[in-house]
Amino acid sequence: MAAGALRLLGIAALPLALMTVAPPLRAVPAPAAPQFAACLARLQPQALAAGVAAATYRMHTAALTPDREVLDLLDAQPEFVTPIWDYLAGLVDDERVAAGRAMLDRHRDVLARVAQRYGVDPATVVAVWGVESDYGQRFGARPVLRSLATLACSGRRQEYFRGELFAALRVVQAGDVDPAQLRGSWAGAFGHTQFMPSTFLRSAVDFDGDGRRDLIGSVPDALASTANYLKTSNWRRGEPWGLEVTLPADFDKTPTGRTARRALADWAARGVTRVDGAPLIGPGLATAQRAAILIPAGIGGPAFVVLRNFDALYRYNAAESYALAIALLADRLRAGAGVARAWPTDDPGLSRVQRRQLQALLLARGHAIGAADGMIGSKTRHAIQAEQRRLKLPDDGRAGQRILRELQAEVVP
Ligand code: CA
Repeated sequence: MAAGALRLLGIAALPLALMTVAPPLRAVPAPAAPQFAACLARLQPQALAAGVAAATYRMHTAALTPDREVLDLLDAQPEFVTPIWDYLAGLVDDERVAAGRAMLDRHRDVLARVAQRYGVDPATVVAVWGVESDYGQRFGARPVLRSLATLACSGRRQEYFRGELFAALRVVQAGDVDPAQLRGSWAGAFGHTQFMPSTFLRSAVDFDGDGRRDLIGSVPDALASTANYLKTSNWRRGEPWGLEVTLPADFDKTPTGRTARRALADWAARGVTRVDGAPLIGPGLATAQRAAILIPAGIGGPAFVVLRNFDALYRYNAAESYALAIALLADRLRAGAGVARAWPTDDPGLSRVQRRQLQALLLARGHAIGAADGMIGSKTRHAIQAEQRRLKLPDDGRAGQRILRELQAEVVP
């Protein structure tokens, strides 16, 4: 979601499809209806000061009830660790590449005008769209005003969510988005590219010229707003995000990470080359640019040199793995080959097609995991654990190639 702030607030900001979370041990009690109504009444003068007219506030908050599930999600802790290769295997898979290329084609004219105006290339904009909502297929189903009102009155980040509630009410007040359609993630991110309401107020633009900034109903508005957000995050027109590199054998004591920046020439002098062995300085990369080295899975796995545009992607959602997923998906949309070096695992991650295949195999064995939708949640992980124990495999609950192959090889009676 377009809110690096969420991560800074200690809230997991991964796309919802990738979170496997457990409710907190001691759930935060949702306020009873009278306390909730009293809280909202107390907040009204603050809302007014933030630009929400009294009539708007009354109209859109009077009938709200608290949603205790969003409080559970606010405090949910990761139940399973997701390795970077699983994260990327689900986000940058053949399905998302094929769908993204179709979108590049379908929206070619709009994307060309967006690139002209904001300086962000079509593949990057479409990659954000693909990761955030699977190109408009997953917006999140929770009423945004209800979620934000609940989080504004209970839980551990009330001040932040009050600001987002008031921002959402201003979005509705301006007539940009139909309040009945204002649904999104539990934290209040909504639309094709999952903007938080305050991000909407700062960065959303009306690109189709109908007078409304509609990130739910208008693809042109959503794509242009995403590019505008990246532009205001210091995106540099015509520069790459970075590229995969090969590190020299004696590299392991050199500081890495997004903030350990050096001149590209310095990295080159330390023996860093392009992944195919070609010199680092060359097409697209100039000597004076400052860059950092990322090794998401440690020194034995793939390595990347990242430039300023990687930081702009990071600002969209403050996680290096997230920014890398956008960058690698954008590369594949441009017909790039994907990551060359193998991830350091003998059990690589699954695409979403393979996740659905695995879930179908679990369903066939009687595990009540719901639909084979490719979303690996707690039920799927626990079913995998049960099968791993039966097959005498390490029972980490991970949806990887090994358990898929083992189950595919079995004859189900
Ligand atoms: Ca519009």
